[in-house]
Amino acid sequence: MSDQFTSPINTVEEIPGLRALVQAQRQQQASIGFVPTMGALHAGHASLIEQARQDCDFVVVSIFVNPTQFGPNEDFEKYPRLREQDLSICQAAGADLVWMPTKEIMYAPDFSTVVEVKALSQILEGATRTTHFQGVTTVVTKLLLSCLPDVAFFGAKDYQQQAIIRRMCLDLNIPVEIKTCPIIRDRDGLALSSRNVYLSEAERASALSLSQALKLAKEKIDAGETDLNQLKADMQQLLSTTPLVKLDYATIVDTHTLEEISAPQPEMVALIAAYVGETRLIDNCLLPPV
Ligand code: AMP
Repeated sequence: MSDQFTSPINTVEEIPGLRALVQAQRQQQASIGFVPTMGALHAGHASLIEQARQDCDFVVVSIFVNPTQFGPNEDFEKYPRLREQDLSICQAAGADLVWMPTKEIMYAPDFSTVVEVKALSQILEGATRTTHFQGVTTVVTKLLLSCLPDVAFFGAKDYQQQAIIRRMCLDLNIPVEIKTCPIIRDRDGLALSSRNVYLSEAERASALSLSQALKLAKEKIDAGETDLNQLKADMQQLLSTTPLVKLDYATIVDTHTLEEISAPQPEMVALIAAYVGETRLIDNCLLPPV
């Protein structure tokens, strides 16, 4: 462990300990902000923590690589785990407490309850990653019930995820405000992701096609294009002719239902998922009203 990463930030592992610390803050009338993450933190995560710092009196970040949201052939084992670096980032961004539960704390051996948001979880990412969102909604429910925050902060980067979590909190009367924060990108446009470290130099260059396709869609709308099927085809063409990119979907959907649309409407979002080499990347962009 390197000294430069040694961080004095408060950490807690067990749920009763977390609850006691949060409860003590509540007794002093502090509002509680919560940022759930899987670690391997970057400036995108830091932006959520900074937003929580601005909006709330006490900021809790969780770091938990949740096994149930990874499919059997996905990257759970190799997902980067960078504890000391993550703690430094949390501290620099203004977190008060980092909660790092173990797998055993989150899932008892006889654990047998899941939370599923039906329709929204089966399309787009859910069509390929069939058990992913059930893992996400189950763990997010557990995280929210353990921390009991006033506001939880999610990134627009995982657009479908935040839509599903909003639906879940409404449906289950979970009394937490969900705040969605903008996507943070590298200077060249690549959306920051903990998985970008898997990309070779050539793959990273090809990965720029995702943000370029979104930019193209936005520019065409700004220039007056109203044929959404043409726009989808333009995005698909750009992506499918980029070396090393295997397109899953490039589509335009309603911002709430995530149903595909072919006629312009006030609130729409372009969503892309593609494999670049072996790495699955997603990106999206809200489109201006036509
Ligand atoms: P993860 O650690 O990948 O589960 O992400 C934790 C939170 O950070 C999620 O709400 C993500 O949407 C958010 N996030 C990840 N990447 C970005 C990014 N580039 N910009 C903004 N938020 C992000």
